Amino acid sequence: MKDRFGRPITGLRISVTENCNLDCFYCHREGCPESSREMTAEEIGKIIGLAKEFGVRKIKLTGGEPLLREDIVEVVRAAAIPGIKDVSMTTNGTMLAGLARELAGAGLARINISLDTLNEGTYERITGKRALREALEGIDAALEAGLKPVKLNMVLLAGVNEHEVEPMIAYTSKRGIILQLIELLDAGGKNFTIYHRDLDDIEQSLRERAVAVRTRRSMQARRKYILPGGEVEVVKPMHNSEFCMHCTRLRLTPDGFLKPCLMRNDNLVDVLSHVRAGDISKCRSTFIEAVDRREPYFKKLVLK
Ligand code: SAM
Repeated sequence: MKDRFGRPITGLRISVTENCNLDCFYCHREGCPESSREMTAEEIGKIIGLAKEFGVRKIKLTGGEPLLREDIVEVVRAAAIPGIKDVSMTTNGTMLAGLARELAGAGLARINISLDTLNEGTYERITGKRALREALEGIDAALEAGLKPVKLNMVLLAGVNEHEVEPMIAYTSKRGIILQLIELLDAGGKNFTIYHRDLDDIEQSLRERAVAVRTRRSMQARRKYILPGGEVEVVKPMHNSEFCMHCTRLRLTPDGFLKPCLMRNDNLVDVLSHVRAGDISKCRSTFIEAVDRREPYFKKLVLK
């Protein structure tokens, strides 16, 4: 299924809980409003089944912190159904060590682990917790469980971790991990102006060192730099019309609203109420409505 801008919908990014055990000061919380309702694993499975009918083939589980859910293995199992080609998760990794194998066994194919720093003090400054050791153990466990690829998400923050790109490249390259350098998105509030760090100079230096550069069209046209010892992807969403034009994902909030865009909350469509009422035809209409409401957030400026 394509939206009004010709963008096919192939992915569903599901926030399975609004709760998190960390408190990163820059976090956009997947753009989800607070709520008291939460989808069960079975309901998530039903919505995925429906999404599949509309062409969704990739499921990404996120949060909050998805591993806080006691039934997270069940949620993964509900997502890994025939027809869904790729089930992945983004997690802060602090609770992954004891779960990685079970998650892989339930059908989790790959994983993104968020780690902005290798320094314990900086980790605490960013997340509000002293949990770097647990996160590093989680990364080791993901590798041992055979999740592939393991990607590390590093959000660049001016004056906080911008000097840590090289140590992070060394850390990830040594372990066969792909490093994703992510530009800070404006989540509202004053933090964006203080901490936003343009990634252009970092990208230029990667380009100069790369043995190959690939553009991943299906992944919002992000660039991947193949370095002699490792791989680095650069994610630059801010004011990037190309990024939005290649967006192929719909989102689902923990309380069961289809969310056409990370950056907006004025166009959500309630699917969970219809799932709970057992009204499949209304569920289908909500999908069509949500896809119809999709529009690129950052558009190309056309001067006349
Ligand atoms: N708790 C999980 C985790 O840490 O991966 C999943 C939720 S977290 C919101 C998902 C990803 O969004 C993380 O990699 C995080 O770094 C990133 N993120 C959060 N706020 C952001 C922002 N303002 N700009 C860019 N990335 C952000």
